[in-house]
Amino acid sequence: DAYDIVALKTRLGDIRTEDNPALVRQKSRDFYWYSPTLKRQLDGVNGDIVAFPTTEEEVLRVLAICGELGVPVTPRGAGTGNYGQAMPLAGGLVLDLSGLDKVLEIAPGRVRAQAGAILADIDAACRLSGQELRLHPSTYRTASIGGFIAGGSAGVGSITWGGLRDLGNIVSLRVATMEMPPRILELTGEEVQKVAHAYGTNGIILEAEMPLAGACDWIEAIVGFDDFADATAYANALGEQDAILKKLISVIAAPVPQDYFLRHRKYLPDGTHAVLVMLAPIARTAFDDFTASRGGQMLYRSDLVPAEEAKGLPPLYELTWNHTTLRALRVDPTITYLQTLYPFPNQLALIGRIHALLGEEVPAHLEFVRFDGKITCFGLPLVRFTTEERLEEIIALHEAEGIPVFNPHRYTLEEGGMKQTDAAQLAFKREADPAGLLNPGKMIAWEDPAFDFSTRRTYLFPGLERDV
Ligand code: FAD
Repeated sequence: DAYDIVALKTRLGDIRTEDNPALVRQKSRDFYWYSPTLKRQLDGVNGDIVAFPTTEEEVLRVLAICGELGVPVTPRGAGTGNYGQAMPLAGGLVLDLSGLDKVLEIAPGRVRAQAGAILADIDAACRLSGQELRLHPSTYRTASIGGFIAGGSAGVGSITWGGLRDLGNIVSLRVATMEMPPRILELTGEEVQKVAHAYGTNGIILEAEMPLAGACDWIEAIVGFDDFADATAYANALGEQDAILKKLISVIAAPVPQDYFLRHRKYLPDGTHAVLVMLAPIARTAFDDFTASRGGQMLYRSDLVPAEEAKGLPPLYELTWNHTTLRALRVDPTITYLQTLYPFPNQLALIGRIHALLGEEVPAHLEFVRFDGKITCFGLPLVRFTTEERLEEIIALHEAEGIPVFNPHRYTLEEGGMKQTDAAQLAFKREADPAGLLNPGKMIAWEDPAFDFSTRRTYLFPGLERDV
């Protein structure tokens, strides 16, 4: 390596660092192993040292020193991302931001927190004012707000509020650049998109200001259907009921709930497709009547079972979004998954077609969302994995049906997203990280501007080629 880690450690002085190989290895990992492809490619990835700043001043000092010595810096929140986003492909320093964990300000309609604050802790603080975050990933209890913004996209709450890319769901960000010396910028409005979902390749988020909704004691419900098409039509129609306040609508095809939701098993009759809902108590009767009119069977209700029975169960959202995959993987380690979008207005027809084609090998899991005022859904289908070649075929079959795939088996922004570069993110990287030291290898447009996405060839960061 061209950089001097011993010199770096000395220069970092009283900022806490760790270079014990076992700990560095642990902090160089996320949930990349969800993907057999990423597991193969990234298993050997390791940083050289981890820094644990606890103040903004310490973060700036780490950035300035790494900039001077030419050491790559990979930011890390809680390390729950599942595409290797937080893994330091070029080695160097892992910047663990979990020590910047303060909730700074709560006001009507908004909260400001440091990047490393855990989402559930932010919500607990907001609850004292009768408010809560609009949306959160299913990793609510472990993930950081900075990591959600830099690495996540949507989640629980998206059925009402859309995703992080929707203007207004991130109010403002305080960001440090990797210039010499580092600058601090306040981004608001559309500008936040420069660093949101950029995997920390073009700036370090120090603080985030997020909009809040009124807090609710959400009721959890599981509604059953014998017919899969009835389940998806019900979920879509419930999504369109604007006056029934809800935070989650997920559809999971049999036998996934029965095989993998072990602690909820007794509520899940064989062969029944499950619709998982979080709804506001005020909407209870409207929801009951709506569900009955659509022929749904009420299989579970958190407000109707005895308190001690409900206490033994994980929160319902921990059966949804990427937690569905996690629960399946715990029972059957050969399972993997895909991420798809069913474009409005043909979502129900597309779901029906792909389920008829691949339903056994690729059991359906849908997350309904409201995007630009319209209800549609993402798919996070499980895949009964055989080979990487077959996985590529399954992706191609989706694309041939007009179902875009956000490939979760790729570690780059472009290949995991829309197969093209976000021009605003690239332009901001040129400005904010001119030496290319932030999270190297994740933005193809920076590493290899001539890369041709039409060939379907996978981009390999040069340092990784020896390992694959
Ligand atoms: P990390 O994994 O630490 O980091 C994520 C990315 O952000 C990395 O590229 C990292 O370099 C960068 N980063 C971290 N902090 C900063 C910072 N302060 N400044 C700049 N860059 C930074 N995601 C969803 O969107 N919705 C879901 O519902 C969801 N469910 C999940 C369920 C499971 C079981 C798992 C394993 C993952 C799930 N994810 C989901 C992915 C992930 O958990 C979330 O996106 C989470 O919010 C990431 O937060 P983190 O603190 O763990 O980030």
